[in-house]
Amino acid sequence: MLKILLLIAIIAVAVLLVRNALKAAARKREGPDVPPGDAPPDAKLVRCVACGAFVPRADAVVAGSGFRCGGAGCAPKP
Ligand SMILES: [Zn+2]
Repeated sequence: MLKILLLIAIIAVAVLLVRNALKAAARKREGPDVPPGDAPPDAKLVRCVACGAFVPRADAVVAGSGFRCGGAGCAPKP
């Protein structure tokens, strides 16, 4: 009886290990996980000083007093 229980426990552990390995492989295929707080600097949102809209840092235009979204009426004055 003890042998059967031991065999069942070994099989259960083997199944868990295989499932974890498959999950890890699937995650690797999808690419690295990037937590929202660790977004690259260009992906962070900045606020337009003219209209208050939030735009990605890469799309924003640096103006003297902050960032501007580049929309109509928000483009920095020359
Ligand atoms: Zn704007």
